[in-house]
Amino acid sequence: MNAVVIPTVAVNLNPVPANLVNNNSNVAAVNVAKAPTPPDPTEPALTPPSKSETNFVRKPRLGGGKSKKREIPEGLWAKCPKCSTMVFDKELDENLKVCSKCNYHFPIGARERINAMVETCTFEEMDAQMSSVDALSFTGKVSYTSKLEEHQRDTGLKDAVITGICKIGGHRAALGVMDFNFLGGSMGAVVGEKLTRLIERATEKELPVIIISTSGGARMYEGMFSLMQMAKTSAALAYHAKHRLPYISVLTHPTTAGVMASYASLGDLILAEPGAMIGFAGPRVIKDTTQSELPPGFQTAEFLLNRGLIDAIISRKELKERLSKYLSHLTVRQTNGSKP
Ligand SMILES: [Zn+2]
Repeated sequence: MNAVVIPTVAVNLNPVPANLVNNNSNVAAVNVAKAPTPPDPTEPALTPPSKSETNFVRKPRLGGGKSKKREIPEGLWAKCPKCSTMVFDKELDENLKVCSKCNYHFPIGARERINAMVETCTFEEMDAQMSSVDALSFTGKVSYTSKLEEHQRDTGLKDAVITGICKIGGHRAALGVMDFNFLGGSMGAVVGEKLTRLIERATEKELPVIIISTSGGARMYEGMFSLMQMAKTSAALAYHAKHRLPYISVLTHPTTAGVMASYASLGDLILAEPGAMIGFAGPRVIKDTTQSELPPGFQTAEFLLNRGLIDAIISRKELKERLSKYLSHLTVRQTNGSKP
């Protein structure tokens, strides 16, 4: 069986650039790097020859920028899910994780987002050490406490949101940024509490609030405690609005369920990143419940912009500048308006 695999792979390797083969740490090179090594005689070929064939046939087509790849001998590559281009990770980082070919927005961590958006050294983080407890003694294959520890270790975050006071352009603002890598950006007691404290601080200091959301919804490990955060954050925002202070909500991929049903949809201005999936329940649930076909593009930012739920779709690279402009406009209005 092995004898069948070797010639197939060897033939298809020819169009692949030689530099890809050298790099063992390279994601894209994994398939390629394995190919020339002789197969382990003790192990049967688990991968059918047809599968490796499709992998190798595809590679040359993906490498639109072959010459660029040759210049960069080391590093990781990511494949753009939209246009299938192989993008060098460093290039992607410099471009705020946006594909330069098709404008696809890759997920980005909360810290990276903050670094890219706020003026240097102006971010004063709040409640940085606040972390969740297993109040319900949640039982399952893995305990909630170990899940939390694992995510804290992997992401370097204490929970799914970072909050603080910062400067964007020339404006001081209260900023909350969620991170999908931490338990799917789920909203538990800590996310709710940190955001509520942020909004309350903003009300007290008369600052605008900006929250950049990405979330799968409420955190099931915290049951009712997580659902209560919907009311708590909404109430804090209502109090903030009563003081005629602006709140800008930025929806990124994906923003769903309990978060979308509370603070994410309460912005005076609601912005979204291109292609973001935004909704409450998933499309399959809605389809089953309503027993009807869903329109094309359902629950995307573009679809919701056409229907008035979102005020603008803004590319990540322009977000800082646009936020600064909006803040100028809203702050002027605020100073001109009468306060209670
Ligand atoms: Zn792309």
